[in-house]
Amino acid sequence: MFIDVAKIRLKAGKGGDGAVSFRREKYVAAGGPDGGDGGRGGDILFLADTNLSTLMDFKYRKRFFAPDGANGSGKRCAGKKGEDLIVRVPLGTLVREAESGRILADLSDMQPKVLARGGNGGWGNIHFATPTRQIPRFAKPGMPGEELEVTLELKLLADVGLVGFPNVGKSTLLSMVSDAKPKIANYHFTTLAPVLGVVRVEEGSSFVIADIPGLIEGAAEGAGLGHEFLRHVERCRLLVHVVDVSGIEGRDPIEDFDKINGELLRFDSRLAELPQLVAANKSDIAAPEQLEAFRSEMAARSLPVFTISAATGAGLKTLMGEIAGRLAGLPPILQYEPEPAPELPKADGRAFTITREQDIFFIDAPWLERALGSVNMEDYESLQYFQRLLRESGIIDRLIEMGVKDGDTVQIFDFQFDYVS
Ligand code: GDP
Ligand code: MG
Repeated sequence: MFIDVAKIRLKAGKGGDGAVSFRREKYVAAGGPDGGDGGRGGDILFLADTNLSTLMDFKYRKRFFAPDGANGSGKRCAGKKGEDLIVRVPLGTLVREAESGRILADLSDMQPKVLARGGNGGWGNIHFATPTRQIPRFAKPGMPGEELEVTLELKLLADVGLVGFPNVGKSTLLSMVSDAKPKIANYHFTTLAPVLGVVRVEEGSSFVIADIPGLIEGAAEGAGLGHEFLRHVERCRLLVHVVDVSGIEGRDPIEDFDKINGELLRFDSRLAELPQLVAANKSDIAAPEQLEAFRSEMAARSLPVFTISAATGAGLKTLMGEIAGRLAGLPPILQYEPEPAPELPKADGRAFTITREQDIFFIDAPWLERALGSVNMEDYESLQYFQRLLRESGIIDRLIEMGVKDGDTVQIFDFQFDYVS
């Protein structure tokens, strides 16, 4: 079974909790804190695997979890990091956030992509000892791992896409010019899954052709088989439009040609704009007048026609040579860039919570953690910017309400500073 779309849930590992523990040694009445940090939760990574050709595995397995980080423990022992989970997908899989449709990753190369990050481990109580606070009886819990629902969409990586009505000879063409073995038969829709074939033109030069199931009229509205396969030619650099000029199926080749182009345009205007080579197939059984009528109509539209017979092999070498030549001057196979997350609305964009443990104030504010990443504490202007963020967001006011005193510790994620009014 060929499956090229799927929806799955991902949940990265939670960070382990930090430990509260105190040193116990012989003859030492009250040792200092020695509670270790929790381990980070495991990430979920996606990796392209060229041995996979469909998303079928995801029809049966829809939930993916990475393990949690272990909790910290006494004697300064940090918890073990949760192991990363690697999800293998076919090369060319596009991952989108299910809710928004935003592109998160394009697995069109062999680079692993992190799709869900594990939560940070919480700090153990060793971090919270100061000369004035020698018995910190608290530690921080681990942060939750990222959790999201994603859709997977396979978009094959091919240089050339074959388009045309069913039965015009697309699969025969592919089998003649490449190592691929697509099904060929004299009835419609024999090709139920896209097939890729590698065409070797000369020493060291090759390109990939995709044969997709034939398109039919109305396919762009999902009326029949074909529409859902167009995604597999979306990355293509060039289309070869195969037309049956013999009229053996009782259709008119020019009407066929226009209908297919109409479908491409309706599905995605980019497809209609791709360079197209027209292959007039079944020339071995076409009457010379049929061939001529088609050629002259295409000439009137300034479209070059390659007369071929996929069955006998006539004209195929010329067509493949032309394809190779054209590809040399075309942009590479389309890769999709990840789309940035939309900015949070201003209203709750700067939300925060502050919790207090003894004389430490913990600020929980993801936006501030992100901002901290770009702040250089050694740099005066950078520091001023940071202080302004604290003031403008209302954090300082809240700290004062909560009774902060000079010298108390303020902690934001893993950054600590002493409060100075
Ligand atoms: P597809 O549906 O476009 O993939 O078409 P196929 O490659 O499966 O071919 C459909 C039918 O047309 C098969 O019976 C083929 O043998 C036949 N066919 C394909 N190309 C030619 C050709 O150049 N000449 C002749 N006479 N028959 C062909
Ligand atoms: Mg076919």
